[in-house]
Amino acid sequence: DRLKQGLKKTGRVLNTDIRDLFKSEGRLIDEAFLEEIRAILFKTDMGFVSVQALVDEIATTMRGRVVQMEDIVATLKNKLRELLAQSESPIEYAASGPTAVMVCGVNGAGKTTSIAKLAHMFKSQGKSVVLGAGDTFRAAAVEQLTIWSNRLGVAIVTGEPKAHPASVAYRAVEKAIADKTDVCIVDTAGRLQTQVNLMTELTKIRDAIAKQIPEAPHEVLLVLDATTGQNGISQAAKFAEAAGCTGIVLAKLDGTAKGGVVVAIRQQLNLPVKFIGVGEQHEDFAAFDSNQFVDALFA
Ligand code: GDP
Repeated sequence: DRLKQGLKKTGRVLNTDIRDLFKSEGRLIDEAFLEEIRAILFKTDMGFVSVQALVDEIATTMRGRVVQMEDIVATLKNKLRELLAQSESPIEYAASGPTAVMVCGVNGAGKTTSIAKLAHMFKSQGKSVVLGAGDTFRAAAVEQLTIWSNRLGVAIVTGEPKAHPASVAYRAVEKAIADKTDVCIVDTAGRLQTQVNLMTELTKIRDAIAKQIPEAPHEVLLVLDATTGQNGISQAAKFAEAAGCTGIVLAKLDGTAKGGVVVAIRQQLNLPVKFIGVGEQHEDFAAFDSNQFVDALFA
């Protein structure tokens, strides 16, 4: 399936390298083995703390025993599920009226594509959608989002070039309320300026949304490029703070062998990865499910 396909690069590293550790029948779990497994896990960019937790789990449950590859894989899978566990529903929907979802992230991360994927997902769940093209500083972003809205058959609100993103966000939410639309997805500027500017701008957009729906935005999703691996995390932390993010959309997981970054994000940002992007098409997208993710990783 799409998820398995999307995680192929990461899965290949894990599965091939772990299999290589078991050339003979079984292996004694000693310090040498623990170092080897640690090196493999590091390759997938899970981050120090998560790798340590996984290696510790193997050490405490298996040290001194001779085990099979299946035993190691099962232990890793269980511990990973535990590290990645999160609540069932990826989206906090409004009790009544439109649900407002704000989407942020730096240019090139995959924000526009992820918005299209979200819109497609909502639509296929029978929900109506309106997009707010709030990345008004980039004409190309507005254009691209307009193309997606046509292709997917969802409404869009755009502003004059260089209009303030907050005014577009305001009008998009206004339209969602007037049309009784289920979900309003608001794009935001992707320029990585100083943190102060970024915070001011994102706050204005939040305020514009909250002016009409006091408890909104219901979700603030941060789109991260998985191919940047651990390097993306410090940038993510800035955004998360500035925008009050509620979750991560991890795009381009299909383009990297560093899919373990999902684990690092969960651990270091304390934010759930809510959706993953595994390709350029609007169907190449999934709500993050820790069981499915772990299974696909070791498939
Ligand atoms: P934005 O600048 O953040 O709005 O980024 P875009 O949505 O325009 O995406 C930048 C590039 O990454 C485009 O070529 C997209 O097709 C590509 N892209 C976005 N998401 C994914 C994904 O999940 N997988 C792959 N392989 N490519 C993606």
